Amino acid sequence: MAVRVDHGVTSGTFSLDGETHQVDNNVWVIGDDQECLVIDAPHSVEDILAVVGGRRVKAIVCTHAHDDHVGMAPALREIVRAPILLHPDDRPLWELAHPDDLWDADLSDGQVIEIGDTDVTVLHTPGHAPGAVCLSVPSLGCVFTGDTLFQGGPGATGRSFSDRPTIESSIRAKLFPLPGETVVHTGHGDDTTIAAEVSNLG
Ligand SMILES: [Zn+2]
Repeated sequence: MAVRVDHGVTSGTFSLDGETHQVDNNVWVIGDDQECLVIDAPHSVEDILAVVGGRRVKAIVCTHAHDDHVGMAPALREIVRAPILLHPDDRPLWELAHPDDLWDADLSDGQVIEIGDTDVTVLHTPGHAPGAVCLSVPSLGCVFTGDTLFQGGPGATGRSFSDRPTIESSIRAKLFPLPGETVVHTGHGDDTTIAAEVSNLG
């Protein structure tokens, strides 16, 4: 059964370092007609469930633990009965968002998550956050980058737990080797491609 990507947008806030910003977040769901993975859980369980469309959720995969990406993860878990997956290096950020709760299983670099007939490969890409990951799906020619790579360049590194040289080396080491035509599905805003961002970053 064919695996496809579905998309929604949620609106809400992102808070860190005592500042709160209004943000729109992409919700990405990858799966077939039976089961799916939810990539990030921002702002509104209802909006996420609209993208899921009644399918069984195999896991809630968090690209990183900023509160605009994991805010609804425990509430969504309650409803869909699926584990929350997060790279353990994002523990300090997770604890800011959910001091009394935990995720269920750790993500690791190179891990393969199967959904339908498709393999999703976890790429650990620290920089925007220490436990930031991207999710590469070679059979669909796409990669989900969270806030690591946007249309126009790397994600923000001006706040706590972020580092610009680290995000640049993550992008060069883990994302730029992907085929240039790979479609980049980002955490905020429009898609891009690997080739376009190689020429942006140089
Ligand atoms: Zn972020």
